[in-house]
Amino acid sequence: MQRIDLIPQNFRQGAERMAQAFRDLDQVVVAAHVNPDGDAAGAVAAACHVLRSMGKEFMIYAQPGLPAYLDFIPMPGVVHTTLEHPPFKPRCAVLLDCGEPDRLGRELAARLPELMTINIDHHLGGNGMGSAANWVDPTAAATAQLMAYVALAADLPLTGDLATAIALGIITDTGGFCHGNTSANVLYLTAHMVEHGCDIALLREKLENTWSRGRLSLWGQLLQRAGLERDGSVCFCPVYLEDLRKCGALKEDLEGFVEQLRRLRGVHVAAVLREDSPTSCKFSLRSYGSIDVRAAAARLGGGGHRNAAGGTLRADMAAASTQLLAAIAEELDAEGVA
Ligand code: 5GP
Ligand code: MN
Repeated sequence: MQRIDLIPQNFRQGAERMAQAFRDLDQVVVAAHVNPDGDAAGAVAAACHVLRSMGKEFMIYAQPGLPAYLDFIPMPGVVHTTLEHPPFKPRCAVLLDCGEPDRLGRELAARLPELMTINIDHHLGGNGMGSAANWVDPTAAATAQLMAYVALAADLPLTGDLATAIALGIITDTGGFCHGNTSANVLYLTAHMVEHGCDIALLREKLENTWSRGRLSLWGQLLQRAGLERDGSVCFCPVYLEDLRKCGALKEDLEGFVEQLRRLRGVHVAAVLREDSPTSCKFSLRSYGSIDVRAAAARLGGGGHRNAAGGTLRADMAAASTQLLAAIAEELDAEGVA
């Protein structure tokens, strides 16, 4: 079987178009959204492997760096947190898993007009900010899935560190093959990588079993605090800077917490609101099935996917809580959920 045959028909044209677009790049900054998660990091690593195989010069840019829980992932280069002293003068950029220039990080967003850019993403609502080529496909579970197809179109084997990077993105964005985006294609792709030596059990073990005491005590306190709104259809938990300080926890220790709130029977929307400063709060929303939290997030200037969305509110916790719960209520009303 040829590598190209591993790409499902509906992704083949896009993958070939992107592989060709990669060939036209050099002196490339590779970046995803700020505060990268496993899919952002995995897609970035995969893009670097493709560029390396083509003999291109590249650098990784991520603001404010990768979270500590991804330290074990072998990145194919130094992760630069600034563009002030680049190892070469960037001419091009590959932008991944990010729908808006604002979420790329301030320095890169400012330089976009001077760069030739390729944009690969799976967020709904992203309009394709690549100046040279775009591949935005919300039917993909993860941007790393799209990058796997680009790698195959570039005739790379999905083994070793490349496979680990792709599996990281897929495991992250499918919630370990559980969310509604866990398509047959995702499973075929993963099965192929497992067949060729990718150890997904080990990867998940390294991702999951790394909790600090601070994280454990933070989750304990927050699980006590989470409250029900709208007759139990919304589970909401505010998180204050003071909580992190008291528990000795980091912002990234909240990763995965909002999913726990969705587990309560009868809850349609789970919402976490995290205080980042006295005037800025980050929210995370999760839902099931047809309930569209992206629409609620978009009302507040955020975005994401139908069942997982987020955004930032420039307000204090009290005002932000009111705005967030109102936007959720509006969406539930629109969908006829009591
Ligand atoms: P999380 O709640 O895990 O931070 O994010 C859930 C989803 O919403 C992810 O797909 C993420 O990219 C998206 N998201 C989170 N924050 C923002 C934001 O500020 N703006 C946009 N457009 N999307 C966001
Ligand atoms: Mn993603």
